[in-house]
Amino acid sequence: MLTIDPHHPLLPKAPRHFDLLLDGDWRPARGSTLLTRASPAHEVAVTSYPAATAADAEAAVLAARRAFDHGPWPRLKAAERSRVLLRAAELIEARIEELALLDTLESGKPLAQARGEVAGAADLWRYAAGLARDLHGEAYTNLGESMLGVVVREPMGVVAIITPWNFPFLIVSQKLPFALAAGCTTVVKPSELTSGSTLVLGEILLQAGLPPGVVNIVTGLGREVGATMAGHPAVDMISFTGSTAVGKLTAATAADGLKRISMELGGKNPQLVFADADLEAALDAVLFGVYFNAGECCNSGSRLLVQRSIAETFVAEIVARSREVPVGDPLAPETKVGAIITPEHLDKIERFVAEAARGGAEVRLGGARLAAERGRFMAPTVVTGVTRTMPIAREEVFGPVLSVLTFDTVEEAVTLANATSYGLSAGVWSRDHDTCQTVAAGIRAGTVWVNTFMEGFAELPFGGFGASGIGRELGRHAALDYTEVKTLQMRRGPRRDWWLRPAAGAAAMAAG
Ligand code: NAD
Repeated sequence: MLTIDPHHPLLPKAPRHFDLLLDGDWRPARGSTLLTRASPAHEVAVTSYPAATAADAEAAVLAARRAFDHGPWPRLKAAERSRVLLRAAELIEARIEELALLDTLESGKPLAQARGEVAGAADLWRYAAGLARDLHGEAYTNLGESMLGVVVREPMGVVAIITPWNFPFLIVSQKLPFALAAGCTTVVKPSELTSGSTLVLGEILLQAGLPPGVVNIVTGLGREVGATMAGHPAVDMISFTGSTAVGKLTAATAADGLKRISMELGGKNPQLVFADADLEAALDAVLFGVYFNAGECCNSGSRLLVQRSIAETFVAEIVARSREVPVGDPLAPETKVGAIITPEHLDKIERFVAEAARGGAEVRLGGARLAAERGRFMAPTVVTGVTRTMPIAREEVFGPVLSVLTFDTVEEAVTLANATSYGLSAGVWSRDHDTCQTVAAGIRAGTVWVNTFMEGFAELPFGGFGASGIGRELGRHAALDYTEVKTLQMRRGPRRDWWLRPAAGAAAMAAG
């Protein structure tokens, strides 16, 4: 039985309340409904915020539109925008404890992990601040002596940012500073389960000197607030992270208004372990890959593909170590796997395992919730004998559940790895350079980790193939994605009058 203290000193005495950030001011929503969030581990109310209405979402979009069309932000020198982003990074670092605690209390993730995520997020703000100063167009001096071509990068406009609950502060920081660096204005809708740290970010941004209306934050339900943002004609771009199902809906709404989209969606990521790998390192990465964030992770290494010759010993070791993984109170310093986000989600995780067992798979460890005084916790789970057609091998379980499949050859491993509609990431473990390169080339995924797993760098693009999304975040290109291209053609000297020229196809190329 897991012991959970509902009187832990880090738990608030009363839920912390937030309002909406609209046009530079904190305001209550038009409706009176509040969303109250309880800690998934302690079942104690920790935060409350408005369930905003479509009218609130519209007011936020219009504030962002005004800030874009008439406000200073898109017109500032990049150096000035960069200074605000740098100041934000400093203020985030100064409030790491508060931000990390909010993410932990709302999502159930271990506090030590949340601190790392907030520190990583501050680094993204700093990186984007640098990018702001390097965003520029191109000059074409090869068009003949009387023509200068200039390709200008302008900010895309109003960006609607919609984020999920699993990495609340990190994911908003993968989007917002890049959009701001480009000079865009925004409306942000965090998940209704984990809005706290995003709202504190709103305080930080005002303190950092961001002008009113540049970032508006609207809390509430996706079908009300998110859908209004996605369909609003004053929005130019939608940057969405969440499930593939909601991503498809949002992309369809965006298509109707021909808006630009960036979609970071689900994953069913394989780790391929070959017999010649550093098996100790691979073992550690497999455990980390599947249990990090309780498996509630788009990058979760939820499928282990292991070469048959080592499968039995490797899996036996995984099962043995999985028994020792510290699951429990996210506020306890030793905890590595915290609580599961909602009761419905815990039911869903259990259903996946039960269904696999009914289909002939063997549950070697776990498979059900853990007994706990309070809260909801899933046992680390290892399922073997999984076939590629089972839902547990193809769909996102989003829990601490490892599905094990075996292969003999490199070709078979690549085929198995690609046997889902997703393509977010993969890991390959081998000491053979050819094997690693062949697998990396054959896998259809946005990131392939070679002899490592789930490392992240601000400099490197991240995103998915197929059902895992459209577009890339992070890296230099992320900021470019928030810009629109304009071409200037500038002639020097007189342009010859059209009617004095003999009829010819000279202008056809431009007209065509
Ligand atoms: P979700 O799709 O349920 O919700 C994501 C966001 O969309 C929330 O803010 C939600 O309120 C909003 N939303 C819901 N319905 C909407 C609608 N009709 N219109 C507009 N917005 C709407 O996802 P979730 O459960 O919060 O997060 C988990 C999912 O996110 C997983 O599938 C995970 O793989 C994915 N994810 C992907 C990445 C990545 O980078 N690829 C990162 C983290 C999470």
